[in-house]
Amino acid sequence: MEHMSSLERVVTLEEAKAALDKFWRPKPNNVFVSASQAVGWVSAVEVKSKIDVPPFDRATYDGFAVRAADTFGAAENSPVELKLVGRILAGTWPKMHLRSGSSVEITTGAPLPPGADAVVMSEYAVADGESVKIYRAVSPGENITKKGSDIKKGQTVIGRLKQLNYLDVAVLAAVGVNKIMVRNRPKVAIISTGSELMEPGTKLRPGKIYDVNTTSLSEAVKTCGAEPVVLGIISDRFSAIRAAVNRGVKVADVVLISGGSSVGVGDITPRAIGSLGRPGVVVHGIAMKPGKPTFIAVVKNKPIFGLPGYPVSALMVFDQLVADYLHELSGVPRGRKSVVQAKLATKVLSARGRRELIPVKLVGRDGQKFAEPILKGSGAITSLSTADGYIEVPLEREIVDEGETVEVKLFWGSEFV
Ligand code: AMP
Ligand code: MG
Repeated sequence: MEHMSSLERVVTLEEAKAALDKFWRPKPNNVFVSASQAVGWVSAVEVKSKIDVPPFDRATYDGFAVRAADTFGAAENSPVELKLVGRILAGTWPKMHLRSGSSVEITTGAPLPPGADAVVMSEYAVADGESVKIYRAVSPGENITKKGSDIKKGQTVIGRLKQLNYLDVAVLAAVGVNKIMVRNRPKVAIISTGSELMEPGTKLRPGKIYDVNTTSLSEAVKTCGAEPVVLGIISDRFSAIRAAVNRGVKVADVVLISGGSSVGVGDITPRAIGSLGRPGVVVHGIAMKPGKPTFIAVVKNKPIFGLPGYPVSALMVFDQLVADYLHELSGVPRGRKSVVQAKLATKVLSARGRRELIPVKLVGRDGQKFAEPILKGSGAITSLSTADGYIEVPLEREIVDEGETVEVKLFWGSEFV
């Protein structure tokens, strides 16, 4: 099945990444987006407030602006009477200066007049046209929101490389900002090769199967903060593959092509890519199961990752080889819960000299988390829906024992906590 030509040299995953490094490194790009579009994007720069919030001392409640000293001694049975000299509504600017012995009616959010240092809530005051009786003393600063008490001018309101949520954009609105520089989402071209593939939703013809990788890889790419560009199903023909990859390197930053890297009829895909320009294929064959036929190429300064055709294998190799680059480009961090510890439910055997990735299902038993290996093989689609993630058996290990603690790399969007 994994037929390789004699020219190919199998390398470790680390060696494969180092080989790519010589020709391509992820270089993030930045772009401005409007604040109303910014949720989910990652800030490229720190945002500092250019203003104080609130921009002036303001009334926290409806009531009467006073000099606190004038209200001292006021109580329910011994009100203090102050002269009522006007009214300040929110959105206006006070024209008067408050003198001792007087008061101004004020609404929530309105600026405090100079001279005033507190607000008596309307519940504790009774006004007639000329004067107001205050039934409770206030201390200086009471019921006032000070200028800059929420956000100070110059204060950082959004850190760098923060994935923005709707609260962040609310803060941007509060400081008057309507656009923000973010990491541009890398575009990832997705190509599924295989003359047997048909698009889901169409009628399956004899000898055909439905294309899974376009869907699964598109969604996997999105969780890394990248934007999939679906180039569709391509038959196993040199010219068709060559044209699709050529299009991919034009329209996207990264190209993913699945299937066809180990075909018995010859390595059409690597050869087609090799014909597009230098350096072409830089790695063909990684000491990993699944994923031995994986290849990496660089054409027109764009990386092309050739993933195995089997959907589960394609996803695992994507996670091992490609995901980190996309996270780096997009700035979207890997989810905190992307790795969990569990006890291996049954022992697994692995060949020495290659990294083995084994899909597992997580189950809770006796208050402990267990990882049950799914040994149906990478061709079984059901292992996609039953697996929560996979474990990695390193190069040098041949056996992992039942009960051993293992790290489970969760598949994207896995709900298991
Ligand atoms: P290949 O890597 O092209 O030799 O494919 C390996 C196996 O995966 C074959 O059984 C293919 O039919 C299957 N396969 C390849 N691409 C896809 C795909 N996009 N969706 C589902 N199965 C696929
Ligand atoms: Mg194929």
